[in-house]
Amino acid sequence: QPAPDYAQIIEQAHQKYKNNNDGKVADYIPALATYSPKFYGIAIATVDGKIYKVGDSSKAFPMESLSKVFTMALAMEQHGTQVVLDKLGANATGLPFNSGLAVELTQGAPENPLVNAGAMSTVSLIEAKDKTERWNKILNYMNDWADAKLVVNQPVFKSEMDTNQHNQALAKLMESYNSFYGNTDEAVEIYTRQCSVDLNVEQLAKMGAVLANKGKSPFNGKQLLNEKYVPQVLAEMAIAGLYDGSGKWLYTVGIPAKSGVGGGMVAVVPGEYAIAVYSPPLDQAGNSVRAQKTIEDVAHATQANVFLGQ
Ligand code: GLN
Repeated sequence: QPAPDYAQIIEQAHQKYKNNNDGKVADYIPALATYSPKFYGIAIATVDGKIYKVGDSSKAFPMESLSKVFTMALAMEQHGTQVVLDKLGANATGLPFNSGLAVELTQGAPENPLVNAGAMSTVSLIEAKDKTERWNKILNYMNDWADAKLVVNQPVFKSEMDTNQHNQALAKLMESYNSFYGNTDEAVEIYTRQCSVDLNVEQLAKMGAVLANKGKSPFNGKQLLNEKYVPQVLAEMAIAGLYDGSGKWLYTVGIPAKSGVGGGMVAVVPGEYAIAVYSPPLDQAGNSVRAQKTIEDVAHATQANVFLGQ
């Protein structure tokens, strides 16, 4: 079978959706409200190290919840998948990403590392001798995946620190149920910092390509995640990558993906490619509207669906 014409496929999707104005740019973090709803970039990174891109592919945006995937992967590298299952969980909440009700309903039992409560508790599980080392481990790990030197967007970080009372409350609630594994305030701050890291879709696609390529970056050749753990990372993405939109996504598109309220989204087709899309307007669940439409089209055009096999 000849390789799909990725360049043409993403060009077509870009044409088709660039004038779709559905959704709303996130504004509960004030700094995010300053991004134009027009931004729209697409990139594909293949397992053989090729990049295809179109639109605003070099525009930087904050990772937000996309960062949760890589901290979770680091926790797996450090502790193995059983500890991640026991301490962070692998079940859908069926509720919004920052739901306090979800924590209460389970009495703080670990839900999954991709909702806010679980993601902050993931940070607290990262082994490090102090706060600086914990942050550096997370950032350096993300840099290796992106094959770039990523930086924190300071205005976004400040804006988010000033307005993250809800996350602080979630973290305290988790702590009260013994589902936090280190200093709570420190974990909330580092979580907020990782959410504020800027990247573009090309870098995000490269990060996704590590998962498509059995844990090894096709761009710098580094084995960043034990090959054995890749299915568990992808399973967590399938369960909760799009929060309460995850089930419908898996049913209609069938490839594991992760979104962030900054408007970024990445999806992984094991053995083939990763696709990243940036477009700030979000649906009710907090997932980029254009990104979901784009990835759905590209998945269909390339006959990608993990339940179909190769
Ligand atoms: N930093 C954001 C928050 O904690 C991330 C949420 C998201 O992208 N879904 O609310």
